[in-house]
Amino acid sequence: MLLAHSIRLGPTEAQCAYFARAAGTARRVWNWALAQCLQLSARGLPVRIFDLKKHFNSIKYVDPAWLNEDDQPWLRGIHRDAHAQPFANLNKAFARYFEQRRAGVRASPPRFKKKGRCRDAFYVANDKFRLEGKTAVLPKIGRVAMCEQLRFAGKIMGASVSREANAWYLAIQVDVPDQHARRSRQSNGVVGLDVGITTAATLSTGEKIPGPNPLRSALRRLRIRSRRHSRKKVKGRENMPSALAVADQPPRRKSSNTIKAANVLARLHARITHIRKDWSHKLTTRLCRENQAIAIEDLNVQGMLRNRKLARAISDVGWYRIRSQIAYKARRYDTLVVVADRWYPSSKLCSACGARNDGLILAVRDWTCSHCGMHHDRDVNATLNLKRLATGALAARTALPVASPTATSDTAAGILLAGGGKVTPVRHEHGQQDGSGQEENAEHICSRF
Ligand SMILES: [Zn+2]
Repeated sequence: MLLAHSIRLGPTEAQCAYFARAAGTARRVWNWALAQCLQLSARGLPVRIFDLKKHFNSIKYVDPAWLNEDDQPWLRGIHRDAHAQPFANLNKAFARYFEQRRAGVRASPPRFKKKGRCRDAFYVANDKFRLEGKTAVLPKIGRVAMCEQLRFAGKIMGASVSREANAWYLAIQVDVPDQHARRSRQSNGVVGLDVGITTAATLSTGEKIPGPNPLRSALRRLRIRSRRHSRKKVKGRENMPSALAVADQPPRRKSSNTIKAANVLARLHARITHIRKDWSHKLTTRLCRENQAIAIEDLNVQGMLRNRKLARAISDVGWYRIRSQIAYKARRYDTLVVVADRWYPSSKLCSACGARNDGLILAVRDWTCSHCGMHHDRDVNATLNLKRLATGALAARTALPVASPTATSDTAAGILLAGGGKVTPVRHEHGQQDGSGQEENAEHICSRF
């Protein structure tokens, strides 16, 4: 089972500078390769990424564009993996794009990466680094302190170094033998989970779990700090001579106060991400540990994020993250995950008698079934319907352990689809190491909104 462990690094200043240069190299090579691809396809020529890579290798130490002021090839100072991996990433990004297009899914092609706007990361192959306790020995820069030891025992498949605000992390991918990766469950419940806006998470037990508390105050501070930052930016713009006058001059450097404000803002963003991740990790671990089956809805997060009124609330809760965490933890705890079809009306069905309340709108938080007279809390009712799907899927799984075509070793503990429709593949939260920034998992329209 592939697992990833992301460990914070404690690099020296010189090592930080190397990391930044290596990440910049990866970005520049990606942009170069993407530009070549676009040029080739504009001329109607076939695009073969690995031919491009060969071409790049032949020019990277001689082409003037890749030499520094002293006509020296600066790429020699950066480890090869940092500028070789972008080709593989780009190949993967294009493959994913075409696959999504073929499937009729809304997809966007690979994009150029902009400094300061993209994820700063570069790859290190498994034979190019080693770990010695709480030290990582990386190519070109040697020993870098780590905050903790690698938790997983297994074959190391590769690693990537990436930045989050002002901190650098080493994410190590490990192929852990299944018997070591497995965790034992504490109980064998069946649960339906509804992730919502008014209540962050509702369980079919009736339990309502509020979102993380520190988030609210962090978000308030975020507003203040982004205001401070943007004020500095506006001020900087006012002082600038007109665009015509500076046309021939190099772009102005950011003032140190602007940079400071940007750093403060980035650290707060990182803190908010950590609060959210901590919350969802605790929730999903608990669910997988306590239940033999979990039913969730197949929500169209991408589609809903396009609704600007809902976007903030949705990303606050982190639906997509919860979903992917459940997927990979379920495999460790051997928990069955049942994903209700996007069109399954979990909110509209009465969990007591099965009557359908088609007039139910999003604003209505509780309602009474006109058929059986049962009074429902909207979210709890939805989770009870989901739980029923999970119970059914579980019964089917125990009754037909091998007869089902999907019950192979890999998918038995994976994701099962209920309500008719496609089986959703499992994607690992930390598993992706391509750093391509192509995170989109575009989907269709959601039935609930
Ligand atoms: Zn009813």
